[in-house]
Amino acid sequence: MLDELLERAKNLLDCQRPVKVKVRPLKTSIARVSFRYGTITLDPSVLELGDEEVLYVLVHELAHLKAGTTYHSSAFWMEVKRAFPEKKARELEDNIMVKLQGRT
Ligand SMILES: [Zn+2]
Repeated sequence: MLDELLERAKNLLDCQRPVKVKVRPLKTSIARVSFRYGTITLDPSVLELGDEEVLYVLVHELAHLKAGTTYHSSAFWMEVKRAFPEKKARELEDNIMVKLQGRT
């Protein structure tokens, strides 16, 4: 399921580089991405979310990777907007925050 969502996220953002997803407990966030290795790490709590929310988390991390920034800059948002309108993205972020008690 995760691989399928990753493929969808990569297609939406037209991301060409190889990307792997790992699941392991994270202390300070629910997800992060390594620019060097192209690896997205998800906290196990992410797997409790709905498909669209997990897709958003993957899109969010891929957008950081493609924009080459850890900031939520305009370049970052341009990538996110390939997959979700900004309003929808913010809604999904809010829902995820509530569900995972602000652990983003
Ligand atoms: Zn972010």
